[in-house]
Amino acid sequence: MHADIRICRAHDRPVYTLSDTCPECDEQTENSAPAPFDPGDPYGEYRRKLKRRARE
Ligand SMILES: [Zn+2]
Repeated sequence: MHADIRICRAHDRPVYTLSDTCPECDEQTENSAPAPFDPGDPYGEYRRKLKRRARE
């Protein structure tokens, strides 16, 4: 069974919950599923590109 993990981004670190609202601040949460990258590491792809370039 697929559980929709949702995220509240109103904090220093994303708060993960299964609820439509954040358990900590009551804000609306976002569905985390479509995120193409780790939401905690928005520059991961950029950093990987740099790393790849450094090896060439
Ligand atoms: Zn929150």
